[in-house]
Amino acid sequence: MDDLHILKTRLCIIGSGPAAHTAAIYASCAELKPILFEGWMANGIAPGGQLTMTTDVENFPGFPDGINGIELMDRCCKQSLHFGTQTLTETVSKVDFSTTPFKVFTDSKTVIADSIIVAMGATAKRLDFLGSSEGPRGFWNRGISACAVCDGAAPIFGNKPLAVIGGGDSAMEEATFLTKVLGGLKVKNVLSGEVSDLKVAGLFFVIGHELATKFLDGQLELDSGGYVVTRPGATLTSVHGVFAAGDV
Ligand SMILES: Cc1cc2nc3c(=O)[nH]c(=O)nc-3n(C[C@H](O)[C@H](O)[C@H](O)COP(=O)(O)OP(=O)(O)OC[C@H]3O[C@@H](n4cnc5c(N)ncnc54)[C@H](O)[C@@H]3O)c2cc1C
Repeated sequence: MDDLHILKTRLCIIGSGPAAHTAAIYASCAELKPILFEGWMANGIAPGGQLTMTTDVENFPGFPDGINGIELMDRCCKQSLHFGTQTLTETVSKVDFSTTPFKVFTDSKTVIADSIIVAMGATAKRLDFLGSSEGPRGFWNRGISACAVCDGAAPIFGNKPLAVIGGGDSAMEEATFLTKVLGGLKVKNVLSGEVSDLKVAGLFFVIGHELATKFLDGQLELDSGGYVVTRPGATLTSVHGVFAAGDV
């Protein structure tokens, strides 16, 4: 690999969601000149992270009327760049945290860094059935969500009956959605075969997350769900000099 493809930095940030950009803004303000790998559809998510998949974000400070998720993350990215973060649109495929300085690899670059922040986020698992997708034929973000905490207070759900799917995914396999505004579910009892109507205005998937930590390949301690283990109350990971932030 020629010198052009080897970069050195005091801090390398892996990820591009709110956690990565918050870290990048602080670190670049402190003149650490961080290098941030924003990924390219890493873990199935565009640069900017999970908020690029939503419409209005209602709970971000400074936006009392809410802000579009893509616009919010675009602003975060611009703010990181403004203070001097170098952003690379590449997915990290391998790391070497066994010695310092640490090494971070993509298909075309190696970054040698004194410290690392891992902020690769997670993807909320979703069930796939008729009406569950994005777009004009689906109710994703228009009645179906994977984040009850984020969206539960949205006006479309206010004071209305809601359904939450958690555990027993197979119970939903044959669910079919009614048309127009999400009005309810047809639910099949997989034991008795009985089909019943459940009137709801919203549906939330709470069936876990897919973590983007496989490429770490055992170099950081993970829990059984794939989450990076941090010291309680801190961002320190099992490797001195490697920190974790956000959903990861
Ligand atoms: C549809 C939806 C709506 C939501 N709405 C709200 C809301 O209104 N309010 C709220 O508070 N929260 C909301 N959330 C939750 C919120 O989006 C997450 O908590 C937040 O985005 C987590 O941020 P993060 O920085 O940890 O990671 P993420 O946002 O998950 O971003 C991680 C990024 O890292 C990238 N990445 C992964 N692996 C690599 C790699 N190997 N190399 C380089 N890059 C990599 C990913 O592609 C991704 O872009 C919502 C989530 C979803 C799915």
